[in-house]
Amino acid sequence: MADVREDGSSIDFELEVPLVIVGGGACGLVAGLAAMSRGIETVILERDDTPRGSTFMSSGFVPAANTRFQKAAGVQDSPEQMAEDIARKNGHESDPAIVKALAEASGKVIEWLADEHNIPFELVEGFLYPGHTSMRMHCTPRRTGEELMACLLNAAEKAELPILTEARVTTLHIDKEKRVHGISYQRPDGNIETIGCKNLLLACNGYGGNPELIGQHIPKMKSALYYGHEGNQGEAILWGKALNASLKDLAAYQGHGSLAWPHQTLISWAVMMQGGVQLNLHGQRFSNEHGGYSEQAAKVLSQPEGVAFNVFDERIHEQCLQFEDYRNAHAAGAVKVFQSIDDMAKKLQLPSADVHQVFDEIRTLQTNGTADRFGRTFPAVQELVPPYHVIKVTGALFHTQGGLEILANGRVLDERGERLPNLFAAGGAARGVSGAGDSGYLSGNGLLSAVVMGALAGQAVAESR
Ligand SMILES: Cc1cc2nc3c(=O)[nH]c(=O)nc-3n(C[C@H](O)[C@H](O)[C@H](O)COP(=O)(O)OP(=O)(O)OC[C@H]3O[C@@H](n4cnc5c(N)ncnc54)[C@H](O)[C@@H]3O)c2cc1C
Repeated sequence: MADVREDGSSIDFELEVPLVIVGGGACGLVAGLAAMSRGIETVILERDDTPRGSTFMSSGFVPAANTRFQKAAGVQDSPEQMAEDIARKNGHESDPAIVKALAEASGKVIEWLADEHNIPFELVEGFLYPGHTSMRMHCTPRRTGEELMACLLNAAEKAELPILTEARVTTLHIDKEKRVHGISYQRPDGNIETIGCKNLLLACNGYGGNPELIGQHIPKMKSALYYGHEGNQGEAILWGKALNASLKDLAAYQGHGSLAWPHQTLISWAVMMQGGVQLNLHGQRFSNEHGGYSEQAAKVLSQPEGVAFNVFDERIHEQCLQFEDYRNAHAAGAVKVFQSIDDMAKKLQLPSADVHQVFDEIRTLQTNGTADRFGRTFPAVQELVPPYHVIKVTGALFHTQGGLEILANGRVLDERGERLPNLFAAGGAARGVSGAGDSGYLSGNGLLSAVVMGALAGQAVAESR
């Protein structure tokens, strides 16, 4: 279903536009808005009947530095600090030029979307996500990707940005120089239609929904639950391979170690950052929960039965009620409440002595101000007190982070490091800034690549005229 044909210069395309974008998630929509606002006629092709993508399923938190929302809240931040946080988390494995470009543009893109396109961004306050040295997550009031998508689709409609739905792009038509002249897309009835383009932007995310590619590139997550959009089948890297494009960091992914089980609802990592801990079925902690939620997926999955208990208290519960996903999990009965450690251990069938030992150790660490064997410290203000709240969780694969190697303006490179003539990629279709594995993902790297690189790529297409 994903091929490249060297027949581009001979096809009489039904319609030709300066920019075709494959995929109508956050990346495609923001790129389209950026290109249209610079006078570039654009068409987005989306395989689903309603554009949703992984963006719709996400929490919709977009990191950005130096925004007026931060300034209003008295938060000190800078693009340099943000770039440093991203690079530290990925062990300096990402392209520094891309990290710099994203961090520098992030604040401007968020403000542009707020001012020009009425996206009601606000700053998420109250806690820091792991690895961030400043509060810089921006989201819409309901704090859901569903709302972010609704706002972006509204903006697209106002900007008269055409989105052709039920149009699954299957084929790129190129010439000898690898210039894309147009694409073919398939309709639900099987009909194939074509459209010509001067530039093509791949915004069709990664390959999380393609078990074969996951088995090939991320074997340890092959049997993990995939919690992203099923339609993300990896066409960008399949087309890229056929074009001899450079593919980077294909083993990189964002996992999440806190998906309520069996409810399958995302439990915010704020639970851990505010003082919660994870216990396995032996009643023992097994990791530094402040390392990052992405790498925690594999750690949870390697525990007995691939599950863990998030243990926290009323204080954290109250704070988490601000998240719609958490409220849904709570309403679905995922949050169990216990009056004491013994009560919790008995009802969850955990060895009581081991659970007591965990709490004793945390108390000692709090008193001494020292780190545990995993490297986590426990500030006294975050002491867990009864009644204890517990959610059973598992680890899941959220999205892949590797993909087409790009320049800081979204242009795709080939294996020799040369630019392909008119191919751009951004969001999950392109290599992200999360290094080569699962531990380089800094919260927000997904939408950072989608929203901010989407804007940069849309702008670059306009400038390439
Ligand atoms: C549960 C969850 C929570 C998350 N929370 C956050 C968060 O808070 N912050 C953050 O930064 N990241 C988060 N992420 C990651 C984030 O959702 C993604 O990184 C981001 O949405 C990617 O955007 P995108 O536009 O590249 O892809 P998508 O939003 O997935 O859009 C891609 C679109 O392309 C379409 N498509 C695919 N193939 C084709 C084709 N051949 N032809 C036509 N259309 C095609 C798809 O149908 C889809 O609509 C989360 C992910 C999940 C799963």
